[in-house]
Amino acid sequence: TPPVRQHLERLAAQGIDVVRVTYPDLIGTERARDVLLDHLPSACDHGLAFCRAVYHTSPQGDVVPVPGGLDAGLPDICVRPDLDTLTPLPWEPGVASCLGDVTDPATGRPAPESPRDLLRAVVDRAREYGLHPVVGPELEYFLCDPAPDTARGWRRYSDAAGVVYTAGLRADGDNHLLRTLRRLRELNIGVTSGNHEFDGGQFEINLTHSDAMSAADRAFRFKGAVKELARQEGRLATFMAKPFMGAGGSGFHLHLSCTDDGGGNLFDDPSAPYGLSTTARHAVAGILAHAPALAALSNPTVNSYKRFGPDTLAPWLIDWGLDNRSAMVRIPPERGAGSRFELRLGDASANPYLLIAGTVAAALLGVVAGDEPPAPLEGYGYDPAKSPVLPQSLPDALDALEADTALTELLGKDFTTAYLSYKRDEVARFHRHVTDWEFTEYAYHL
Ligand code: GLU
Ligand code: MG
Ligand code: MG
Repeated sequence: TPPVRQHLERLAAQGIDVVRVTYPDLIGTERARDVLLDHLPSACDHGLAFCRAVYHTSPQGDVVPVPGGLDAGLPDICVRPDLDTLTPLPWEPGVASCLGDVTDPATGRPAPESPRDLLRAVVDRAREYGLHPVVGPELEYFLCDPAPDTARGWRRYSDAAGVVYTAGLRADGDNHLLRTLRRLRELNIGVTSGNHEFDGGQFEINLTHSDAMSAADRAFRFKGAVKELARQEGRLATFMAKPFMGAGGSGFHLHLSCTDDGGGNLFDDPSAPYGLSTTARHAVAGILAHAPALAALSNPTVNSYKRFGPDTLAPWLIDWGLDNRSAMVRIPPERGAGSRFELRLGDASANPYLLIAGTVAAALLGVVAGDEPPAPLEGYGYDPAKSPVLPQSLPDALDALEADTALTELLGKDFTTAYLSYKRDEVARFHRHVTDWEFTEYAYHL
């Protein structure tokens, strides 16, 4: 890394006077501070102080009790800009964004619940076994227009049907996708293409593959950028798993392979069944074995479990298949350098760092244990006689995570404790909430 002075000169020459230092919190929300360029050297030397709290995502945004937060008087955490990630924000002239790493000043070490550090630690563990994960993210989201007269305040940007795999004005009357793609290209996060998804107002944009940390950083920035660009148009882009009744959910599919130290694809073996190496089979088996626990990370909200179900193209069962989109793990047809699996489990609301860390960890556990997967799914993937069902609610997935000692050991006790505290508080808040459904269901006859 060139010294901070060189960055300063380069940024100033680009007309940048503010650096937005952003870090992902436990649930993947962007927490940020705008730093005047002159202050950047000091921010790099001393770090920026943020309060060690985790907030929930509702408009009230209250502090959620996680250990070492509210119970400890909301002490500081220290966020240090990672200057390697500096990049101008195309939609905000004069501003460059930069990711930060979180340390706990009390220990001087990475904060145990910091998602970037968690991923770094899991990738390091994989490297000890000679595995270098390669990750390609695919994200779907819904775009909404303001609807001031409705209870939600937002409605789908379009309710056109039959629009899947289309591009252009017929499904996207305001060319949202084109504009977004071009802006994202300027952000340099490896966006490759986009299309309209199944449902009106739903889009998918794909990112290129890379090492795990870069993939997580880029997916994190992607989500923030799409939301910010939508805001610029007075719209709301949402990555929640299943925002609308009667429409599909939004997935966060993850393509994963591993290379060896020399960059060779470790999942490829033309002489083995299906052209998949022993390592690939073990990795898939690890994903299947740890799927109920992994769901707590890949499907992190109460709402996430409403995306699962038969005939949704989201998974419902814990299974794998060869180029089968009804399976939870799909093996795309390419082999050679393109040998990989596509995990279709995650939904768009997942924190990219936790989804990727959890997936790599589960695959690694399968490799280390030498797990063997059952025969791949043939045909229709939504027959519960064929395979076990995924957890059907967030509390079930959280219990599965807590019970999965191999996985939680890899993720670390501090992380798991903080995550379970946060998420169980979310579940409790949900159960206290009186919903419209209850009123409609009960109020008239009971
Ligand atoms: N929307 C589906 C999901 O929730 C995926 C559709 C697709 O295959 O692109 O995962
Ligand atoms: Mg899709
Ligand atoms: Mg996909």
